[in-house]
Amino acid sequence: METQVTCLRCNNTQAGLPSAPVPGELGKLVLENACGTCWGEWLKAQVILINENRYTGANPEHVKALLGHMRAFLNLPAEDAG
Ligand SMILES: [Zn+2]
Repeated sequence: METQVTCLRCNNTQAGLPSAPVPGELGKLVLENACGTCWGEWLKAQVILINENRYTGANPEHVKALLGHMRAFLNLPAEDAG
C-alpha cells in the first residue's frame, strides 16, 4: 500500500513506494523520504551509471558505490557508518 511521503529530492508530498526497494536502513530511508516519481528517475539514472562504470551486482564495492549514488541522487541524509 502506497503512502504519502514528503520527498527530500523534489519537496513534493505525493505517493511513495509500495515497499522498501533495498534492504536495511537505507531501504527504510528511501521508503520514508523518496516519492515514486523520483525513484523512477533514479532507476533511469542508475542504468546510465551502471553502463558508464560497468557496475555489477556481484561486486560488493560496485553495489556500495551505486547505493552511494542513490543516496546522493535522492538527497537522503548521510549515515555515520556502513
Ligand atoms: Zn520526489
